[in-house]
Amino acid sequence: MPQISLVSKNFQYPDQVELQAALSRGAWEQWKRVLAEKIPPAAIIEEVKAAKLRGQGGAGFPTGVKWGFVPKDSPKPKYLCVNADEGEPGTFKDRAILENDPHLMLEGVAITCYAVGIHTAFVYMRGEFYQPQRVMEKAIREATEAGLLGKNIQGSGFDLDVIVHMGAGAYICGEETALLNSLEGWKGWPRLKPPFPAVVGAFGCPTVINNVETMAGVPHIMRLGAAEFQKLGTEKDGGTKLFAISGHVAKPGVYEMTMGSSLKELIYDVAGGLPGGRRLKAVIPGGSSAPVLKADEIDVPLEFEAMAAAGTMLGSGAVIVLDETVSIPEVFMVTARFYAHESCGQCTQCREGCTWIYKISKKILAGHGQPSDLDLMLDLADNMNGKTVCPLGAAMALPTIGFLKKFPHEFLALMKS
Ligand code: SF4
Repeated sequence: MPQISLVSKNFQYPDQVELQAALSRGAWEQWKRVLAEKIPPAAIIEEVKAAKLRGQGGAGFPTGVKWGFVPKDSPKPKYLCVNADEGEPGTFKDRAILENDPHLMLEGVAITCYAVGIHTAFVYMRGEFYQPQRVMEKAIREATEAGLLGKNIQGSGFDLDVIVHMGAGAYICGEETALLNSLEGWKGWPRLKPPFPAVVGAFGCPTVINNVETMAGVPHIMRLGAAEFQKLGTEKDGGTKLFAISGHVAKPGVYEMTMGSSLKELIYDVAGGLPGGRRLKAVIPGGSSAPVLKADEIDVPLEFEAMAAAGTMLGSGAVIVLDETVSIPEVFMVTARFYAHESCGQCTQCREGCTWIYKISKKILAGHGQPSDLDLMLDLADNMNGKTVCPLGAAMALPTIGFLKKFPHEFLALMKS
């Protein structure tokens, strides 16, 4: 059965945000077990590696492998930054965890910090997330008062402070190195890599940066065991994933699916298909930066490699469904406007490229375009893709290539001759 309730299983209970109610449903049990049984940190890292848990923020990097990059013998403190800066257009699945089951994510944070030897964790939260902030700060307070966080947790000698840090509403701060600069009080500009955050991260110290949903998967790995967790998904993508589906479906929302389920199943069987008997035109499968799929290309498994093989990406799991009434040039212009606004301006290719693609797309929509504009935008995209400090340049380039190559007729139809 592709739809499943694992990470989302307690979303249905409004009182799950309260510690006592969460405890009654099994919250924090794995954290207590880790401490009581003194499970070796290295064994937890191996378990997470074997579970094939991939980063759920978009990049899909294997989580346990990332933890393993943190130097064990560094004399500096180590940090965990939970990336809760969910800002990709179409994406709203981390918010569902933050608002509905904060203790699940915090338990994952605690186990992660123990495994990597971290005593301070930051939850870097999107500036507009007032409700998640309120819920998370209360959960941290309750967990600390109950001796699940803080000093000498459960008499183990292990200390852990968790701090919520609010961003200021910039999309680019979801990029991990921009997040670090912002956390340190600087402008949210991405940094050149290497060095990678695992070695030189927050305040110049080794830092693990993991997405909210990734953290929420960790207690389930400890509960089920790596083999059971991995088997829910595929050989390379273990477990489950939350998908935020929006646009022209009968039941938009957040759904949890086993890794490797079909995109078609998610749209038609889970989200109720398209309302009003209208036909599907296209699907943006992984947030606005993912190249678009045409209606006849959606029979593809929801896993990182399969989506890449289909010429797109799983990304953040934000599925935007577009029916036959949608103007692709208009969707494209809105996408370009977003990236032009959110480019931090550090790289010429991205700053100028996003701005010019937006201007040209607006000109085409106004009926003043010419066929050569399509080649010009593809040329701009080519100069941005993979040639910038951070992936935002590619986040504009890839949908540009997708929309223009798959729907050129819609753009040409807006041109007079
Ligand atoms: Fe800034 Fe864009 Fe360069 Fe990223 S690619 S660093 S957002 S200018």
